[in-house]
Amino acid sequence: MKLLIMGPPGAGKGTQAKILAQKFSLVHLSTGDILRNEIDKASSVGLKAQTYMNAGNLVPDDVLLEMMNSTLSRLKDQGVILDGFPRTIPQAEGLSKIFKSLNQVIDGIINIEVDKNVLINRLVERAKKSGRADDTEEVIINRQNVYLELTAPLIEFYKDNLLSINGDGSIEKVTERILTRIQ
Ligand code: AMP
Repeated sequence: MKLLIMGPPGAGKGTQAKILAQKFSLVHLSTGDILRNEIDKASSVGLKAQTYMNAGNLVPDDVLLEMMNSTLSRLKDQGVILDGFPRTIPQAEGLSKIFKSLNQVIDGIINIEVDKNVLINRLVERAKKSGRADDTEEVIINRQNVYLELTAPLIEFYKDNLLSINGDGSIEKVTERILTRIQ
């Protein structure tokens, strides 16, 4: 099974992706986590990504596409849930090509929807605990704007296959809503 989970920063997609990965024995591929790991290793991808990430901007599409092409090819026989990728139309187009070359299709696209004010509050709360370099208020606001400009158009791009999920409420409630749609 190949799933995508999308939603604005703070929507809880990482949390839900982890739960779904465990439930369906999928590999959880969070591009944010992969990139943070590359930064920790000071790899060439990490060095390219760091400045963009710290400012809350997107890492260039070619970096992501190359990284995901090799990761998805390596994992072609396993179920995966993609969390945080694609995040732009060119990434979505590139992802279609990757899956096509592997003779695979996307089985489900989950979009978690949450009101903007709820998101900013959640991210400010998370920032108090996370220690993430991109969890300052200025960067949080930039990340929401980047989402609206570059990632939200994916809703239209995937409109025929999108499972829209209300992301307000407890983690369990949101999981339950997702499960009723994908089972
Ligand atoms: P996340 O952990 O998903 O919130 O991602 C943290 C940061 O990693 C983002 O603000 C971007 O700078 C970068 N990032 C993660 N996924 C992508 C992607 N698909 N395209 C570009 N940048 C990404």
